[in-house]
Amino acid sequence: MSTLTVSVVTPDGPVLEGEYEMVSCKAESGELGILPGHIPMVAPLSISAIRLKGEGDSNRIAVSGGFLEVRTKTVTILAQSAERPSEIDVDRARMAKERAEKRLQNKQDQMDFKRAEMALKRAINRLDVYENNF
Ligand code: ATP
Repeated sequence: MSTLTVSVVTPDGPVLEGEYEMVSCKAESGELGILPGHIPMVAPLSISAIRLKGEGDSNRIAVSGGFLEVRTKTVTILAQSAERPSEIDVDRARMAKERAEKRLQNKQDQMDFKRAEMALKRAINRLDVYENNF
């Protein structure tokens, strides 16, 4: 079966590069499934899990937004942050979740509320990817 060369890159450097048969991700416009030969496109990504299906090996990665660029044989994910399940610090994500939940109880400050909402989404996404619940 033909494959796509997938690379996941963050401002801190490359996270993963490999050959995969399918990439599933959540763009801001909805779920996307990319197979070899997909039309070229660029799409903004949600805070979500990327699923990479390979011949023997599959991977999932928690990303905190960014962009997906699809070309005929390549998929590039430029993510604000990206972690494999083994790289996720669960205690840190749980603490971030609690902190964000506390901040969300204070609805006075709109700006702070929005930031807390995003922090909560990032923490829940990391916990879901770690626990494989997406
Ligand atoms: P925190 O409040 O714990 O810093 P955050 O959601 O604000 O969480 P980000 O700004 O998204 O953190 O990420 C900053 C850096 O820390 C990135 O390199 C990201 O990969 C890493 N990171 C954040 N949380 C975790 C985690 N729970 N496990 C592993 N790496 C993490």
